[in-house]
Amino acid sequence: MDINQLVRKNVQKLTPYQSARRIGGNGDVWLNANEYPVAPNYQLTEQTLNRYPEAQPQQVIDSYAQYAGVNPEQVIVSRGADEAIELLMRAFCEPDTDTVLYCPPTYGMYQVSAETLGIKTKTVPTKSDWQLDLEGIKQNLDNVKLIYVCSPNNPTGNLINPEDIKALLNLVKDRALVIIDEAYIEFSPNSTVVSWLNDYPHLVILRTLSKAFALAGLRCGFTLANKPIIDALQKVIAPYPLATPVADIATQALSKEGIETMRLHVTNLNNQKEKFAKQLSALPIVEKVYPSESNYLCVKFQSNKEVFSKLWHEGIILRDQSKSIGQNGFVRISIGTEDECDAVITALKAIK
Ligand SMILES: *Cc1c(COP(=O)(O)O)cnc(C)c1O
Repeated sequence: MDINQLVRKNVQKLTPYQSARRIGGNGDVWLNANEYPVAPNYQLTEQTLNRYPEAQPQQVIDSYAQYAGVNPEQVIVSRGADEAIELLMRAFCEPDTDTVLYCPPTYGMYQVSAETLGIKTKTVPTKSDWQLDLEGIKQNLDNVKLIYVCSPNNPTGNLINPEDIKALLNLVKDRALVIIDEAYIEFSPNSTVVSWLNDYPHLVILRTLSKAFALAGLRCGFTLANKPIIDALQKVIAPYPLATPVADIATQALSKEGIETMRLHVTNLNNQKEKFAKQLSALPIVEKVYPSESNYLCVKFQSNKEVFSKLWHEGIILRDQSKSIGQNGFVRISIGTEDECDAVITALKAIK
């Protein structure tokens, strides 16, 4: 029999997410997933693997709350920020009626999660300066329960104007949640909207250890929101979302020392980013390097497909953005080590 006939209709239509590692190739310079380029060194200290872990490990929650400047009751930890994106939909959206809204070009998982769950989506593309089209959003709010806004935005690297986020929060008060995805906020720490949680019961903030904390392989993310939202998420999250080794390492990463190390990495990476951006801008095949508040650069080339495939054949894996809305001609390049960035420049210089 054709098993595919048994698969849910909306799932039959899906194609698996083009995740960083699924792209294949035999690259040795991976600049396509905004990972930190060097592995941190942690040792496991917990040996009680015969026991189930704590559902919400208290030390992880307390450390993150302190780091973020919120109360522990305003934090839930999950298997990466990606799981949090989906938990919000599972807790707040009725399949087939409720709608999530997002503003491309932006992070791909808002769409993937909605489609997997059978939740409707609406897109309101950003304006030409990659800022929110508030008027367009206002006209598309029917049945919208969740609005995902990424700031700094992936893949463009810009911050969303705080006044616009405020206007959006006021616009949808009492009818929808506004989720600010701050996966890259450590690269622009003063831009967080975390202090607004006191004023907006419908504000949600997503965070992760995958980017500045250099722990993408750990799968650990956080949702910050007021208690009623956290309580709703507690109802739908898996019983043991964090394996004991994950909680163990997350606790170390969120210690005073761990946070100092992360901040040092951010400073170094931001310096490398400025240097790399200057070198790229000087190349004739580069049309524009956009300012970035994150750990990647959004670069417009005359021929982005050629750039992507030429570098691919040399083992340098970038992220071709041409399939995303409004991203024709764009390549997203994660900031690697100095050597990795130099390799990109050398390879680009060889393209005529
Ligand atoms: C990387 C990324 C995430 C996912 O973070 P994980 O914690 O690794 O699941 C979420 N949002 C954005 C915008 C990202 O770039």
